[in-house]
Amino acid sequence: FKIKMDELELKEELGKGQYGTVQKVFHKATNVVMAMKEIRLELDEAKLNQILMELDILHKSTSPFIVEFYGAFFIESCVYYCMEYMDAGSLDKLYGDGVPEEVLSKIANSMLHGLKFLKDELSIIHRDVKPTNVLVNKAGQVKLCDFGVSGQLANSLAKTNIGCQSYMAPERIQAVNTYSVSSDVWSLGLSLVEVAGGKYPYINDNMFAQLKAIIDEEPPKLPSHFSEEAHSFISDCLRKDATQRPTYSQLLQHPFIKKYEDVDVDMAAWAVAANLSRASH
Ligand code: ATP
Ligand code: MG
Repeated sequence: FKIKMDELELKEELGKGQYGTVQKVFHKATNVVMAMKEIRLELDEAKLNQILMELDILHKSTSPFIVEFYGAFFIESCVYYCMEYMDAGSLDKLYGDGVPEEVLSKIANSMLHGLKFLKDELSIIHRDVKPTNVLVNKAGQVKLCDFGVSGQLANSLAKTNIGCQSYMAPERIQAVNTYSVSSDVWSLGLSLVEVAGGKYPYINDNMFAQLKAIIDEEPPKLPSHFSEEAHSFISDCLRKDATQRPTYSQLLQHPFIKKYEDVDVDMAAWAVAANLSRASH
């Protein structure tokens, strides 16, 4: 089915990004609560239609580790992207002073499954792995969003893209157009260090110094109270030489993932508590 603006009841704003806002909406025809992302673009109708076509492949294959896509439409030059509403929010708003090791392992596990699904089933690399693009619901599920499905959309956004916290791997800063799966492995490792320690691990007030540190300095580490397995997993992801980073299949076999695979971590309880304490701050 196709979603149209007049079938949506607008609720509260969920957040703002570089390109627009995300709003909670209610789709009356299906009784589904959704998150609608508005992306402002200066594009002609042909290019907007191309974006909608490229997004269409998301209808064909779904995964429990990827935020579900419901549909997209455009009005004037804005693209409206409707997706599954994740009611605990994104990881950046949930990690507080840092999450416990068993929760970190489960988050890593879900992110690896999501990234591997994108690569194996859709042949896409995410390109924007970071805590704001990892969403959680109160059932304790962890899913990825904002991956690079549409080449046209990515191109149209690229011109303005440079955030103030970079998750780019060293090779991306040093050379344009070198992007491979292993660059996402770096961003995964960096995101996990942030989620574990409760803050972005590089200096944050000077963009140039930040990018220089990513290239020149030793990669960040987990806080010392994490296990040897956890430290080893992170240092494997954060190898500065991209060719030395493991594949998703290798990482899924890593002792840090295996160690907690048979442990029943109550992710729902964690998500609900983290969401609550975030609301009271
Ligand atoms: P950037 O623009 O640098 O990519 P961002 O990822 O924070 O940053 P958006 O993707 O526009 O920007 O999202 C804004 C915020 O909206 C996110 O940080 C997240 O907290 C919230 N959000 C996005 N999608 C959903 C969703 N499906 N369900 C619930 N909250 C969401
Ligand atoms: Mg996002």
